[in-house]
Amino acid sequence: MEFLRPATWREALEAKAAHPDATPIAGGTDVMVEINFDHRRPDVLLDLTRIPELTTWSQDGDVLRIGAGLPYTRLIEELGDRVPGLAIASRTVGSPQIRNRGTLGGNLGSASPAGDGHPPLLASDAQIEVESVRGTRLIPVAEFFTGVKRNALAADELISAVHIAPATGPQQFSKVGTRNAMVIAVCTFAIALHPEQQRVGTGLGSAAPTPRRALEAEEFLSAELDWAGRRPLEDSVARRFGELVAQASSPIDDVRGTADYRRHALAVMARRTLSWAWHEHCSGRQECA
Ligand SMILES: Cc1cc2nc3c(=O)[nH]c(=O)nc-3n(C[C@H](O)[C@H](O)[C@H](O)COP(=O)(O)OP(=O)(O)OC[C@H]3O[C@@H](n4cnc5c(N)ncnc54)[C@H](O)[C@@H]3O)c2cc1C
Repeated sequence: MEFLRPATWREALEAKAAHPDATPIAGGTDVMVEINFDHRRPDVLLDLTRIPELTTWSQDGDVLRIGAGLPYTRLIEELGDRVPGLAIASRTVGSPQIRNRGTLGGNLGSASPAGDGHPPLLASDAQIEVESVRGTRLIPVAEFFTGVKRNALAADELISAVHIAPATGPQQFSKVGTRNAMVIAVCTFAIALHPEQQRVGTGLGSAAPTPRRALEAEEFLSAELDWAGRRPLEDSVARRFGELVAQASSPIDDVRGTADYRRHALAVMARRTLSWAWHEHCSGRQECA
């Protein structure tokens, strides 16, 4: 196995162009598991851990640019107030050791339907910045996932960063697992309220071949919420929202749960996260439940 260790981003892009089959490795928390279990035996590993700019973040106006190699621990500590939904999801990833090594770029590279970073990115309409020696492009996150563990990267491209707007309203994330921690999700749900646009964003995980939004549920709820008056949430609205979220899924039966259970859990998570988020939106206003 050849092991390439570029010191600069330019060298990394040139290495990927010269070796399109090379497997990038960031935290290694997915790649090394696959190698250890002999599920993957790459001829070339492209180590990205020496490239400083991959582990930085910056904000320009209303765009936060998060380097693909920023570990979850730093994302939680440094960006928890700007992207709370992503931070809540990041806190549920693995254990402290996995959160110290694992990165958002690696989560996107694996493109697992159960990746916990994906639903909050969908709820906030994030864009994935990818780059090759040919240039840079931004891919809307909803177009990034192309199938089970497949993404829209070309063979010579690497993920450089995630572009996401800092929260302008409450965000929530909920995960059902077979135990409380260190668990692959049975299913997940993320919600983001965008009050200035009077719009709701959603993201479903482990509920379809790819992470996806619940578009009909978003449209329904955006029209039903009393954004300016902040009236309490009606039970019928929360229930219908949950039903529409469940309908947007196309889950399977597997070792972690049945499709029926996943649909049920999604409806419950959608109602709960909505009530938490709406309560937060209304906080300080007595009449809001
Ligand atoms: C014990 C354990 C618990 C876990 N728990 C969770 C969990 O709760 N939730 C969850 O979502 N995941 C979990 N994971 C999976 C894993 O930790 C995450 O998917 C993590 O985000 C992967 O990041 P990484 O940097 O380690 O990726 P790596 O393993 O380095 O890479 C993962 C994939 O992304 C590609 N890649 C990495 N960086 C780039 C880049 N810049 N450009 C292009 N491709 C790239 C690699 O080639 C590979 O295909 C767990 C893993 C373990 C071992």
